Amino acid sequence: MDDSQVERSVELNDGRRMPLLGFGTWKSSRLPRTSLQGAVEAAIAAGYRHIDTAHFYTNEADIGKALRSKMQQGVIQRRDMFIVSKLWCTHHAPEDIPECLNKSLNDMQLDYLDLYLVHFPVGLKKVGDDPFPMKDGNLLTSDIDYVDVWRGMEALKASGKVKSIGVSNFNRLQLERLLALCRVPPAVNQIELHPYLVQTEMIEFCKSKNIVLTAYGPLGSPQSPPEMSRGDLDSDKLLQDPVVADIAKKHRHSPAQILLRYHVQQGIAVIPGSENPHRIMQNTKIFDFRLTEEDMRALRGLDRGWRAFDLKGVESHPYYPFV
Ligand code: NAP
Repeated sequence: MDDSQVERSVELNDGRRMPLLGFGTWKSSRLPRTSLQGAVEAAIAAGYRHIDTAHFYTNEADIGKALRSKMQQGVIQRRDMFIVSKLWCTHHAPEDIPECLNKSLNDMQLDYLDLYLVHFPVGLKKVGDDPFPMKDGNLLTSDIDYVDVWRGMEALKASGKVKSIGVSNFNRLQLERLLALCRVPPAVNQIELHPYLVQTEMIEFCKSKNIVLTAYGPLGSPQSPPEMSRGDLDSDKLLQDPVVADIAKKHRHSPAQILLRYHVQQGIAVIPGSENPHRIMQNTKIFDFRLTEEDMRALRGLDRGWRAFDLKGVESHPYYPFV
């Protein structure tokens, strides 16, 4: 199959299109950051037109510099890019929602975002700039309803500062409640997805409601700290799984390419992160081959409910999604 036969973007429920391949920009604060600006510039040079960031990542100024540099070189124009950011949990109060967006826009030197997501359904108290406010060893949560947060997101869309709105880490019940009460349905739910966390029911539900999924941590997030995960595995295991290795060998592609292709073949967007120019480029080469039904079944068969990302310390909150 040649490249031109494969869809590279997906239509959202508001009529806009999102590239299926995006560039992830989160990095564990435990690891040394080389140059994110350089990595984003390498990604744009390699052909990525969708960039995923968040207020929480505190990296948006570097992304802004990379975008400006590539625009000045004439490689891209703003309209070529699909830029995604997220509202952090400490900014769920009505007055804080536009503030969080404005900070992202200012840091990236942009006047609009293509997609803005509610990062997590549970709110946290706003205490200065602390992303994880604690008291006596406990996270300080808020009881703001995510449906009220969504009203603020709808207002941002009406203002034109964000073109599409969506959510992240919402479970099925939360999506159902949001769909019943919203004026604008979420265009996207960004969740952790890979063969160790298959989530078939969520995939089918989102398809039936015309909500596009974006898979984060598609390679199992090998850099993520073990204390963030839920399950009994190290985060580098997925890339080394023998079933993935066999399929990779058969198709003469790398395990990472198999894990990324697994999603785009289902119309699910993927946002792998890398700081290595070779791997940044390698991860774009996922539109020139097709996994068989047997390959897809074997990959789904690896499911073990393992998460690289859990938000520890809020499990008893009524809006905690991973129940
Ligand atoms: P990931 O994309 O599954 O894994 C990234 C890691 O894989 C990096 O350490 C990278 O190392 C390595 N890697 C990349 N390409 C590779 C290849 N071809 N072969 C071997 N290793 C490769 O995990 P992630 O970065 O945690 O997730 C992706 C993005 O999702 C994030 O960057 C962020 O934008 C988003 N995210 C969203 C949420 C949310 O709550 N919404 C949560 C987590 C993440 P090198 O740099 O050395 O290549």
